[in-house]
Formats: sequence, structure tokens, C-alpha cells
Amino acid sequence: MNDSPAKKTIALIAHDGKKTALVSFVESHREWFEQFNLVGTGTTGGRILESGLSVECLASGPLGGDAQIAARITEGLVHAVIFFRDPMGKHPHEPDINMLLRQCDVHSIPLATNISTAHLMVGSHGFGSKPL
Ligand code: PGA
Repeated sequence: MNDSPAKKTIALIAHDGKKTALVSFVESHREWFEQFNLVGTGTTGGRILESGLSVECLASGPLGGDAQIAARITEGLVHAVIFFRDPMGKHPHEPDINMLLRQCDVHSIPLATNISTAHLMVGSHGFGSKPL
């Protein structure tokens, strides 16, 4: 699970049409992301691993990865979520996605669903010890 329990954990998820955008966002803020344990849905996590960052890869989204992240939020094991959603796509696992978004609100977990909000998160003094 967590490499370092002292670090906060960020979950990373992107729908297919947004994966390249998320990978380049993470790469361009590599130093900030290195402060955290990273966990991702299967395919997204695999793409981020290829860029050289350490990420725990869960199941692919349609196979339950979003549900796993929602469960970790419930357990207090995920502290922020960056989820680049594709608002134009239809997703067979929409119920799992809605559950994840709801768990973020239930537990007041910062949630960035697009690149503009992700920029605010990375630049925030309220999250992470080294805002960029
Ligand atoms: P994936 O899942 O990273 O395995 O593609 C993301 C999603 O579709 O929720």
C-alpha cells in the first residue's frame, strides 16, 4: 500500500481522452508530486510509471479501480484526488465514478477534475509542503 505512511497520498485518474494531459501535467510538476505517495487506476498509473515516478497501480477504472480509490478515501488512506475526466465520453463504470466523487465530498477530500483546478492544487499553500 503506502510506501511511506508519513507522506500524504494523492490518487491519479484520467479517462482515455485525458491521459496524455495528466501524464504531461504530472511530469511538469514532478518535484511537487514526489512529496507524496501516488496511487492510480491501472492504465493511468501505468502511464505515469513509464514517466519514471513511483505509483501504486490499482485495477483499471472499468474493472473497479475508481471503487478501490473511493474505498481508500473512506479508510482515510487517500488525501487528494486528481481525476481528469472526459466530459464528452460515456463510461460503463459511471456508478463507480459517482461513488468516488461522492466520497471526496463526504470526507472533504480535495478533488481536481480538470487541469485548471489541478494547477490550483499544485500551487496551494494548504496542500503539500512545497507549493510550486
Ligand atoms: P484507467 O481507469 O486508468 O484504468 O483507464 C480510469 C477510468 O476510466 O476511470
